[in-house]
Amino acid sequence: MRCHLAEQENLGVAGELPFETVAEYAKSEHVKLYLCMCTKCAQLYVGCSVSIPVAGFADDRWGFWVPVKPHEADALQREPQAGLELINSRKHLTLHPDGQLYWTSMPELVLNMAFL
Ligand SMILES: [Zn+2]
Repeated sequence: MRCHLAEQENLGVAGELPFETVAEYAKSEHVKLYLCMCTKCAQLYVGCSVSIPVAGFADDRWGFWVPVKPHEADALQREPQAGLELINSRKHLTLHPDGQLYWTSMPELVLNMAFL
């Protein structure tokens, strides 16, 4: 993975991530799975946004982005659910509901609650 974001210590805020959506794989009320591309280096990422309802408060909004190769992106057209496994099996970017944005290799428990 050669994306410039991988070397960046301070990632700033997610709104400034240079990602452009390429295709949408799947969407449900609380989960969106899509393909996007870094506009600076053309690295493909599978993106997943999850909103978890919290009684009496605004939804918790999570964001995940995992780098993928073009053939993996193609395979996800047929089997979008596999995108969740990709996030949980390799290093990915996480946007925590509290606003933190970081690289992690930890599986995301919140994805087990997600459904497509
Ligand atoms: Zn990049």
